[in-house]
Amino acid sequence: MSLLSAIVPCYNEEENVELFYSEFMKNASFLEEKGIDWELLYIDDGSRDKTVAEVKKLREKDERVHLVSFSRNFGKEAAMYAGLQKAKGDYVVIMDADLQDPPSLLPEMIGYIEQGYDSVATRRVSRKGEPPVRSFFARCFYKLMHKISKTEMMDGARDYRLMTRQVVDAILSMCEYNRFTKGIFGWVGYETKWLEYENIERVKGETKWNFWKLLLYSFEGIMAFSTMPLMIASLCGVLFCVVAFLMIIFVIVRKMLFGDPVAGWPSLVCIILLTSGIQFFCIGIVGQYLAKTYMEVKNRPIYLVKEEL
Ligand code: UDP
Ligand code: MG
Repeated sequence: MSLLSAIVPCYNEEENVELFYSEFMKNASFLEEKGIDWELLYIDDGSRDKTVAEVKKLREKDERVHLVSFSRNFGKEAAMYAGLQKAKGDYVVIMDADLQDPPSLLPEMIGYIEQGYDSVATRRVSRKGEPPVRSFFARCFYKLMHKISKTEMMDGARDYRLMTRQVVDAILSMCEYNRFTKGIFGWVGYETKWLEYENIERVKGETKWNFWKLLLYSFEGIMAFSTMPLMIASLCGVLFCVVAFLMIIFVIVRKMLFGDPVAGWPSLVCIILLTSGIQFFCIGIVGQYLAKTYMEVKNRPIYLVKEEL
């Protein structure tokens, strides 16, 4: 009998733990018919509400429910990584606790795995219920990533994904500290089937992401999967050298033709301000990559476990 592990990252999801379980159970009979055993891994990402107690309650009823609880909030990326490490299944699926990733898609996903796909991914085709500004920036992000990175990232892709053991092991072999799973999925490759569905709003509780967090997360993604910003910094340098060279020629020619009228002090100040601004900008880019490298070199653990059941 094969085993399916479902990983559910939870951060302050006390209202959703039980709801998710009952929704998942509706599809469990399908799994059993197929001869697939399952385990449910709730990864508590340092919740400050009763999430852990709720999971323990479930575990008393059902031994197939497992709990990994972090010592503090490490972020969803860390929770997913922990889940992948702890999962014993031949197939592994990652699902949000808020039911935005409908378990009802599982039978279809398993169907595709049986057809020979290595992983079945999902993307939402609409962004209904989301602030328009956020959707706009999200689209821009994916367009930009498409241009500056070789790694494939699908617009609207969710982390809801069913994978075979081979793919899971490939993802686990990428043990980087600055994790951007959407990129990692694309980077490892393998044959992926994409399923599309309309956006579903979360059942209970509220999203943990605000605009600012998402913006920072997008920078994380750019830096993790592209070195194009560094290239832009270098190009800025070359461009400004060329402009400076042309201006020197211009000044020399003007001096020879018209003498040397001392003028242009304000324009000089503007040029100095502009170039020093660009310099700081470029140093900033280099600094960001250095900071990321610094964090990688420290080699800190991605998460710390407080309790495991
Ligand atoms: N989550 C987490 N750690 C965090 C933030 C979120 O484990 O620091 C979990 C959260 O409990 C949920 C999933 O990640 O199961 C997706 O989070 P959320 O619904 O807030 O994101 P959205 O769906 O709005 O993008
Ligand atoms: Mg959600």
